[in-house]
Amino acid sequence: MAILVTGGAGYIGSHTVMELLAQGEKVVVVDNLRTGHRSAVSPEARFYEGDIRDRGFLDRVFGENDIEAVIHFAASSLVGESVQQPLAYYDNNLFGTHSLVGAMEAHGVRKIVFSSTAATYGEPERVPIEESAPTRPESPYGETKLAMENMFRWCDRAFGLKFVSLRYFNACGAHPDGTIGEDHKPESHLIPIILQVPLGERDHIGIFGDDYPTEDGTCVRDYIHVMDLANAHYLALNYLRAGHPSDVFNLGNGTGFSVKQVIELARGVTGHPIPAAVSPRRAGDPAVLIASSEKAKSKLGWKPRYDDLGTIIGTAWKWHQSHPNGYAD
Ligand code: UDP
Repeated sequence: MAILVTGGAGYIGSHTVMELLAQGEKVVVVDNLRTGHRSAVSPEARFYEGDIRDRGFLDRVFGENDIEAVIHFAASSLVGESVQQPLAYYDNNLFGTHSLVGAMEAHGVRKIVFSSTAATYGEPERVPIEESAPTRPESPYGETKLAMENMFRWCDRAFGLKFVSLRYFNACGAHPDGTIGEDHKPESHLIPIILQVPLGERDHIGIFGDDYPTEDGTCVRDYIHVMDLANAHYLALNYLRAGHPSDVFNLGNGTGFSVKQVIELARGVTGHPIPAAVSPRRAGDPAVLIASSEKAKSKLGWKPRYDDLGTIIGTAWKWHQSHPNGYAD
């Protein structure tokens, strides 16, 4: 039997495909390649280009493969864009998932591991954030991810769909072998943007606000390596295979780094001075987001292998140095 990975050509999806293959799983990938990259998908996985909103396409994929479970990444994932284009997010994320779960119901597939986000919480009342914290998303991105989780809950009750929802904090880094990594166009995430400076693609990094109520005034985030996220999906799959009930887990390192601290670490990793300049705050950025991942550790047996942010940035640097134009190289 095979694991179907939707969005398996994307950043976290492609690393999860590598992890599943390394664990000896058979993998089928679907991706519409709107933001994903065909060459990010290992040739050992069976690849279908298509959109999860296309029910006929999904029926063909489920018909041609013996699918045991689904790991669901396919979604639009930019907070700012979602605020500008809410309907596009409801369409791709919520309707796409509706189509996928409909196909799962029809084809008798009852296990799904879901790529969720810390954006389901919104501005936290307390850090570290536990899974029991209130969910008050502040963007259509967070709102649609939360709605997808709720869709799974009702489908569990109605027809026994078992799900594990993984709420990630700040995904970063690249596969340690340097063959796959992060490639968004345009790039909006902090670490790859910082690394564009030593790569000669920009002359400085802009810090979005230094007047937050944090130690150095810049936003604090919890950075977690993409291979640790990938491994959590494999553990979540086994958790469902063992017959455990549906559940939600945070995934982060539990340590916060400010934007200035991340830049300083990148200077150390790259040996480049990386000039920085403060620019205005970005709308919707909470001051501090740090995960409590105790539940994932105790219930899934998850243990992040990359707990040093310098090492994590080093894996990203290896990827970007060898692929300065991403997958276009
Ligand atoms: N950030 C920044 N400059 C940039 C990009 C990001 O100062 O060019 C900050 C951003 O305000 C946030 C942190 O870096 O506090 C992480 O941002 P990112 O977009 O990587 O992830 P997010 O926290 O939005 O999921």
